[in-house]
Amino acid sequence: MEIENPYFNQLLCPNFKTSESSAPANSCQGLAFVICGPTAVGKGTVLREVFRRLPQSWYSISATTRAPRPGEANGKDYYFLNDAEFSALVAAQQMLEWATVHKIHRYGTPAAPVHDAIAHGKTVILEVDLDGARQIRHSLPQAPQIFLAPPSWEELQTRLIGRGTESQQEQQRRLATAKIELAAQNEFDYIVVNNTVANATEEILQIITQHR
Ligand code: 5GP
Repeated sequence: MEIENPYFNQLLCPNFKTSESSAPANSCQGLAFVICGPTAVGKGTVLREVFRRLPQSWYSISATTRAPRPGEANGKDYYFLNDAEFSALVAAQQMLEWATVHKIHRYGTPAAPVHDAIAHGKTVILEVDLDGARQIRHSLPQAPQIFLAPPSWEELQTRLIGRGTESQQEQQRRLATAKIELAAQNEFDYIVVNNTVANATEEILQIITQHR
């Protein structure tokens, strides 16, 4: 197997350590929160605001087999793995969850960094698709799950078409996935409607505070 990603061995190693070399003996455990929501609902914008307001929070960097987009960095935006690396992490049970998203590329949450961050008392945010959220209910059952919903179906369509980053065919595919995700929102512990970034951020912060 050809290893290309310099982070691969760290991700494979269950004793992954963050820059803080070990957790203080008397530290409180952190907690992970799952955030899921359809395409164009505004997850990125809302989460950026949540992180700004919550300095002890930690974003789980996903692994993916898709290629980096311009400006994306390995180990910052994603761990960009080749197929063999991704399969090896799955086989070694080093993914909390993984899914083939939009029927093309695989995405997954490396387990070791998440467990390490929790051990360091961090509030961990896992942004995953519906498949991933369902798996995390088994692999990390204590993690509260939040669904970020649009104010309406029409508004979601307007936001997706308005941002203009996808072809018409891709927009249709994403909207079809969004319909499935919206139909599953009642599976989640919390539904937060993203009517404004400020309100959605506030609601998510309240949910997090409630669990701390
Ligand atoms: P993108 O390729 O646009 O960065 O991400 C596409 C989709 O992959 C996002 O909608 C996101 O929900 C999903 N995704 C990102 N990371 C993960 C992950 O670790 N696990 C799962 N299951 N889905 C992910």
